Amino acid sequence: MRTAFISHPDCLLHEMSSYHPESPARLEAIEGALIACGLMDKLVRHSAPLATFEQLKRVHAPEYIASLAASAPDASSTGIAYLDPDTAMNRHSLKAAHRAAGAVVLAADLVIGKEVQNAFCSIRPPGHHAERGRAMGFCLFNNIAVGVAHAMSAYALERVAVIDFDVHHGNGTEDIFRDDPRVMMVSTFQHPFYPYSGVAGRSERMVNIPLPAGSGGEIFRQAVSQFWLPALERFKPQMMFVSAGFDAHKDDELASLNLVEEDYAWVTERIKEAAHKYATGRIVSVLEGGYALPALGRSVAAHVSVLSD
Ligand SMILES: [Zn+2]
Repeated sequence: MRTAFISHPDCLLHEMSSYHPESPARLEAIEGALIACGLMDKLVRHSAPLATFEQLKRVHAPEYIASLAASAPDASSTGIAYLDPDTAMNRHSLKAAHRAAGAVVLAADLVIGKEVQNAFCSIRPPGHHAERGRAMGFCLFNNIAVGVAHAMSAYALERVAVIDFDVHHGNGTEDIFRDDPRVMMVSTFQHPFYPYSGVAGRSERMVNIPLPAGSGGEIFRQAVSQFWLPALERFKPQMMFVSAGFDAHKDDELASLNLVEEDYAWVTERIKEAAHKYATGRIVSVLEGGYALPALGRSVAAHVSVLSD
């Protein structure tokens, strides 16, 4: 079975300002890299649908969904509406956010329906900072959480793992699933660093491992082997979702970890092994951060190459 690549042109229209690091060029860098190394031809392309209100409200407060729609600039506006100092909407953002969340829902459907073995969602805005009732950190809807909730609701999955290797802690994902016994989250993140969460909330199911600034592949791999893999062995998830942020790369100037492409390939291999052990190989991977464009392209290629191998 093959790997799905899910994206949508609407995700390129969301722009928070011409100098914002979370830019449309990120998705172009990813597609360029996948085409250049010949991987794109191996993938099954799908267009992301719009997430429905029903799908969004499994993880977001209805008032929050309504307030986001109310904040969105209207179709004729060229203005930008700020939701926090880093997070804003132009007239295309609301639709892009619905596509980004809808991509993960489709990915779950395709993987659970055995149309593909796994899927990569090349989408923006990213999602893992978005809480049940709050946009923050470039994120509007928590895309991965919407997909996880869909998998549990539509297919009655009882144990799902979220694996997050973005350089920032996925505070939104933790906020949404902290009290849900069906979800385990395993992550690594630079600490202390934005959003300054993830350490206090640690539990059997919230296996969030802080890494000091300057950490490289060796320390990252040790955290994965020592903390993530035993936790996944205990929990035996029926499906794995990956918050795939590539801003822990050494070239990424937003943060100070020092991962390289080989580390992303290595962790993807470990995720794949665990998925084959417990989850019949089912993996849905979702783009989060990653702002150094050439490094982002190469890192996604390393990740998708292992997924599709
Ligand atoms: Zn990040």
